[in-house]
Amino acid sequence: MYQHLADAVLVLHFGVVSFVVGGLLAIVAGNLAQIEWVNRPAFRWAHLCAIGFVVLQSWLGAICPLTVLENRLRAQAGGTAYETSFIEHWVARLMYYEAPAWVFASLYTLFGLAVVAAWRYWPPAPWGGEGRRRLRFLKFLWAAPCSVVGIVLAVVPLAFGGKARWSAGALEVTWRETLASCGQLAGRLPIRGVVFGHVILAVTDDDLRAIGPHERVHVAQYERWGPLFFLVYAASSLWQLINGRNPYWHNHFEVQARERR
Ligand SMILES: [Zn+2]
Repeated sequence: MYQHLADAVLVLHFGVVSFVVGGLLAIVAGNLAQIEWVNRPAFRWAHLCAIGFVVLQSWLGAICPLTVLENRLRAQAGGTAYETSFIEHWVARLMYYEAPAWVFASLYTLFGLAVVAAWRYWPPAPWGGEGRRRLRFLKFLWAAPCSVVGIVLAVVPLAFGGKARWSAGALEVTWRETLASCGQLAGRLPIRGVVFGHVILAVTDDDLRAIGPHERVHVAQYERWGPLFFLVYAASSLWQLINGRNPYWHNHFEVQARERR
């Protein structure tokens, strides 16, 4: 029983490897032969995620979860588990060749770069209606860890008479309506608004009108970078600081937000 399950996982694993390797061949051959389906966005994104996962796991030095699962099943079946990863094991078996993990990591990375090159050269077709809805949902999900921070912070103004409304795909939270009604202290706050994922926080409605377009660019940046946004934003600030520039004003994401507003 466990033996069969382990074999089924092994076959599935072969399927995934074939999808990753065969996928790139199909993308190149299909585009050269002008076969349209190879550029369907669902296929291209699935392929990109698959190779991205493989590369990431090889960098982290982790063994593929499918190999782990298979080894567990084989242990249950009383067979011997491999000590190395899937491809290492089979390459060793088929070619009597052992290579250190970094060789495999480099090979996967090179393959990943080839996939990225193919992506740039033959980009996927745009998403259709249903796909676009799905993509929007994925963007919300991707930025959700950042949106949670925004929601937690929004509790403060909302507890003291603020307002929240859903507008054009983002939650807008303001504390007062006008500068005159928000008091001296809040009136003098140097930061008039801030964005976390799909949550825009502004001191007043007037502020929101003034900085809204700028903050919407930040929302799009969160949709692109997801939880990595905090990291890349900080990295950009640090880079500017090291180069003797202003970490806020010259930050890449602020420059982009000013240009596109
Ligand atoms: Zn900004």
